[in-house]
Amino acid sequence: MKITGVNTYLMRIPLITPFKTALRTVDAIEDVVVELLTDEGAVGYGEAPPTAVITGDTLPSIAGAVTGFIVPKLLGRQVLDIEGNCQAVQASMVHNTSPKAAVEMALYDLYGKALGAPLYRLLGGAKQSLMTNLTISVDTPDKMAQDAAEAARRGFRVLKVKLGSDPSQDIARLKAVQAACPKDMVLRADANQGWTPREALRILGRIREEGIELELVEQPVKAWDVDGLRRVTAGASVPVLADESVFTEQDAARILSTGAADMVNIKLMKTGGLSGALRICAIAETHRASCMMGCMLEGNVAVTAAAHLAMAKDVIRKIDLDGPALCRENPVLGGAAFDGPNITLPEKPGLGIEGVEGLVPYRV
Ligand code: MG
Repeated sequence: MKITGVNTYLMRIPLITPFKTALRTVDAIEDVVVELLTDEGAVGYGEAPPTAVITGDTLPSIAGAVTGFIVPKLLGRQVLDIEGNCQAVQASMVHNTSPKAAVEMALYDLYGKALGAPLYRLLGGAKQSLMTNLTISVDTPDKMAQDAAEAARRGFRVLKVKLGSDPSQDIARLKAVQAACPKDMVLRADANQGWTPREALRILGRIREEGIELELVEQPVKAWDVDGLRRVTAGASVPVLADESVFTEQDAARILSTGAADMVNIKLMKTGGLSGALRICAIAETHRASCMMGCMLEGNVAVTAAAHLAMAKDVIRKIDLDGPALCRENPVLGGAAFDGPNITLPEKPGLGIEGVEGLVPYRV
């Protein structure tokens, strides 16, 4: 089975509630969907969101990279040469991690289809299901409490609470969220780079004094401030998870080997796809650290790919794959199934995606 071409589309899905972090506000998922074509009629699916404030990728840059730079390097190549194909993707251009991730997903989807096996099994997977947290967008304490209560009603048992925009409100936000939740709700906090190192230590100390237990705190300081991240990790009583500071396996090695964070958040849009994510898993294993599997504002194509990886790797112990759970509808046929916080995967070849409804052709 050989790769013969690609189609790119736009997939737009309105969100249940606007997604707000210290970096941005978004009210709909609007992603590029990739269909990688073969000479035997099999189609591989991939998806990439335009997360300009984190990866630098935009809708036209994603579509342009896929059709103009990445896929031309794959034409005529054998689907079964998955390692060679991923190397060709990574060598096609620098940066552009989101379009590379979308194409690698489609390559792994085709690889699974060619071998007749679900991707998570081909990656060595043994888990049966995953349980994701739900993100609570940063807002007024009252609004965040309402959103948290609604999440609890929907069955979520772990919340990722966005903080860091106007840090003076962060304690009140967490107190309001905690008060709105059942006692056994697990709380994670994500400051999205919104604190200085000194501010982070002060706020985390106050959170502790208030009797609020956090399971972890994610990316407290600026992505580039690895020394500051290390000071927070050394001084805080809460485990620290590096997100925006870790794109590549080199970033993961530097952060974990110097104790700058306790864990890393793997997102396919940062790693440039599954091949880089697998290398970060191996690095985390060598440092006896664990990983979170995260996502950007992704629909159920990209989240399904991430779920396959998370299902396969024991080193991935925290799941933040709530993109589809934030959406009003799911146009993806097949793929990961969501029942409240529980995610299961179909026993179908590759990603197990059968199609996507309502796609609009999109080329630049
Ligand atoms: Mg984060």
